[in-house]
Amino acid sequence: KQRNGNEPEFLQAVEEVAETVIPYIVKHDIYYGKNILLRMVEPERVITFRVCWVDDAGEIQVNRGYRIQMNSAIGPYKGGLRFHPTVNMSILKFLAFEQVFKNSLTTLPMGGGKGGSDFDPKGKSDNEIMRFCHAFMSELFRHIGHNTDVPAGDIGVGAREIGFLFGMYKKISNGFTGVLTGKGMSWGGSLIRPEATGYGTVYFAENMLKTKGDNLEGKNVVISGSGNVAQFAAEKVIQLGGKVLTLSDSSGYIYDKDGIDREKLEFVMHLKNVKRGRISEYLETYPNAEFIKGKTPWGVKCDIALPCATQNELTENDANALLENGCICVSEGANMPSTKGAIEAFHKAKILFAPGKASNAGGVATSGLEMTQNSLRFNWTREEVDLKLKEIMSNIHDSCIEYGKDDDGYIDYVKGANIAGFVKVADAMLAQGIV
Ligand code: NDP
Repeated sequence: KQRNGNEPEFLQAVEEVAETVIPYIVKHDIYYGKNILLRMVEPERVITFRVCWVDDAGEIQVNRGYRIQMNSAIGPYKGGLRFHPTVNMSILKFLAFEQVFKNSLTTLPMGGGKGGSDFDPKGKSDNEIMRFCHAFMSELFRHIGHNTDVPAGDIGVGAREIGFLFGMYKKISNGFTGVLTGKGMSWGGSLIRPEATGYGTVYFAENMLKTKGDNLEGKNVVISGSGNVAQFAAEKVIQLGGKVLTLSDSSGYIYDKDGIDREKLEFVMHLKNVKRGRISEYLETYPNAEFIKGKTPWGVKCDIALPCATQNELTENDANALLENGCICVSEGANMPSTKGAIEAFHKAKILFAPGKASNAGGVATSGLEMTQNSLRFNWTREEVDLKLKEIMSNIHDSCIEYGKDDDGYIDYVKGANIAGFVKVADAMLAQGIV
């Protein structure tokens, strides 16, 4: 706390892990007295750099770029790049810290990292995005590599940005390697990678429901966000027979009581990915829906909630509203969307609750599969990747049960994910000595 006092999101993420992992360390001599968690909370390396670029009006713009290389005990650093005006050291360190545990849970050999910039892609032309991405990579390239650090997308960084970043990396490194994931299919990408985080979040919810002999068929589902994760979570919910009632963006949420079906979702995908419009424009085509400005969708009655937008978007009050409305399952698609108070409320009510580091790990797991395919110079089919994704989500679910089952039979997925993620990284760090 002394060292990171001005980093609230990072402290929040560390506290959540410490609360569950410290009691485990105390009971296990191999970890006790080794300051292992203290070593894990200090990033191996933090890089910040200047990014100068020229906008369409000819003005010189200056942004700050970051890469947090958190932990490489079990593999090269791996984690997304976020372009959003709120990006700062605290947010990136929380994301990098979470990533270490998440990547460990996937069972693939990936360390944890995260990066990005306070650059705001909203309202920028394609040319401005390209110039920014090229400028950003012209410094980042010297710190990454397919055996060192393999970034991917996150908020504000999708297929378009990964393309521009990869183009500049390839040019200045003079090599075609799998240095980034989320690449296009014709230049090293993996099938199912765009879908993986959203699909994985829903597969995880399915696994949780199965422990109660239940499934998604006929369930009312509330989703926040309308970006990559939210879109494909919605797609999978629809495929599995659930009814999607809401989607949102930073200006508010839409509520469609008739359900957002396949056709309406395609409209949203075009609106968000091609037109780059606002979710409120949904009403222009589907006037029966409502737009609730400036609010999150947690007051809408539902069986299942999938927060897929951003950190701390679901507060204790929101959690209580969900519980009062009969919500039985929350699977986080975003990173740390539920506040500490919200998680406590879900645990107290003993509903199914999965933290992002377990339930949204499908994205990075499929990035790991993309790295494998790049190394093999080979592509698996859609069905093969989807099957591997399903298996990985099911294995993560099993690990959460192994380490998270309470004496009364309740599965504390937060405890389970934290301890299962910790054990593998801690064992590798101990084996490698004090470095
Ligand atoms: P996108 O940029 O594609 O979409 C983000 C969505 O969240 C948009 O609808 C955006 O609205 C909304 N949003 C962003 N910031 C805020 C905010 N401060 N308040 C309200 N709404 C906000 O990002 P992704 O879908 O990729 O990421 C969503 C979440 O999932 C993030 O927490 C990310 O870290 C996490 N995640 C993503 C993975 C991936 O594979 N993409 C993997 C694992 C986790 P608007 O357009 O108005 O900004």
